[in-house]
Amino acid sequence: MRTAVFWPLCGVLLGAWAGVLGAESAPVHQPLADKIIVLDPGHAVKNAAGKIINPGASGRHGVLERDVNLDVADKLIPLLEAQGAKMYSTRTHGNAWRYSPQSRHADNRARAIFANTMRADAYVRLHCDWNRSKKFKGFTTYYYRWGSRRLAKSIDRALAMALPGHVDRGLHRRTFVSVTASMPTVLLELGVLSNRQEGKDLGNDAYQTRLAQAISAGLVDYFERTPKHKAPQVSVSTSSTL
Ligand SMILES: [Zn+2]
Repeated sequence: MRTAVFWPLCGVLLGAWAGVLGAESAPVHQPLADKIIVLDPGHAVKNAAGKIINPGASGRHGVLERDVNLDVADKLIPLLEAQGAKMYSTRTHGNAWRYSPQSRHADNRARAIFANTMRADAYVRLHCDWNRSKKFKGFTTYYYRWGSRRLAKSIDRALAMALPGHVDRGLHRRTFVSVTASMPTVLLELGVLSNRQEGKDLGNDAYQTRLAQAISAGLVDYFERTPKHKAPQVSVSTSSTL
């Protein structure tokens, strides 16, 4: 008698449990599923002799641009991976320096070729500004190819929302972003190291997290507004420098 009651009850419980499991394993919306994103934390290049040929800017309190760029990339990668993106970076903490036998320009070109080779859907270059004027401050979003403007706009808007009270220096079209990269590409100047407040902020862990969250939100916004089909890639040479 006891068994007869127990088993049907067990069946009900198992059914309920399976229902819960089913609900839990329902597909999660991943807005960046199948997207390939390449990050380029700027600077940190040595030549073959080990001499630094591209150090990046130095801020107050010993904050170095090359470190800030890398720290923000480090915080951004897991955020984007959690939303389904496949991530690559031109520098990582395990591999913080790049070596170029030629010049920093050749290295920047090699980084763009890396993004092309990975068939990236977006290439995001991370930098911090420096200016002679101590009053100069704010974040700036640069793009070059017209196809990159929408990406620039989405990220700029997300940064403005995440950083109230900071100066939004807007969108600018410049060739230095990259003439080589064949996908939507932006170069972000995340703030100004020479400014007293921003120089301090940029070295701050919580501020870097806010920057990473904003860039992540901007990328999601961009891809959610982009038609699903993958844009055709320009074929490029993947030669030499990498
Ligand atoms: Zn820079």
